[in-house]
Amino acid sequence: MNQILPGLWAIDEIGSVVNCFLWEWAGGLTLIDTGMPSSVHTILDALTTKGYALHNVRRIIITHGDIDHAGSAAKLKRATGAVVGCHSVEKVLLEQPAKRVPASPMYRPIFALVRLLPQFNVLPVTPDELYIDGQQTPEGFTVIHTPGHTPGHISLLHREKRVLIVGDALNNRGGKLQLPPPIFTPDMTNAQRSVWKLAKKYGEDFDVMVFGHGAPILQNGGSKVRSLVAQIFPESV
Ligand SMILES: [Zn+2]
Repeated sequence: MNQILPGLWAIDEIGSVVNCFLWEWAGGLTLIDTGMPSSVHTILDALTTKGYALHNVRRIIITHGDIDHAGSAAKLKRATGAVVGCHSVEKVLLEQPAKRVPASPMYRPIFALVRLLPQFNVLPVTPDELYIDGQQTPEGFTVIHTPGHTPGHISLLHREKRVLIVGDALNNRGGKLQLPPPIFTPDMTNAQRSVWKLAKKYGEDFDVMVFGHGAPILQNGGSKVRSLVAQIFPESV
């Protein structure tokens, strides 16, 4: 595991395709996202190697119901006894993973075929907690509804630590801050509006940003998002 800041770890053992995170706080451990369906043992090994008892994982927050974020949620819930939380709108994707389809109908048959392979088979999980925009979690996160990539996508802001857990509302692939990929983002207009919301409503509240995809940004995250928004919406500045 790689410490991003005190209390926040990237579980980098699962590889570089996608990131998931561990948040350590007074109430125990919280996992944010769960990698691919094949990531379960790697995540459990990373926790035990670090000396954490699995039952100390009390909550698993899913930023959105994609295969690379909710992939191991069902198995990790079973292994740890943690509660699983997501946005109320995303509930359907956790319970019925096959409902997640790519933006273009052209790719839908490929998605359906790939799901037949065991390593891409996401087990359904019933969330125990459903969040709404602006809700506070016991860890001190403000849940920010950032739809577009999926309808119930969330980002998590920890104001005290000035960190934003972005999910896939933005990527930092190759060190370039950018919108999520269009083929996996059925509602790009809302994806853009979500970034606008992060910049305008919360842009003063965070410096560190961690992403589902790409390396973390450790400084000036808020101003970087505001600069991106100025490019996307030149009329707004
Ligand atoms: Zn992703």
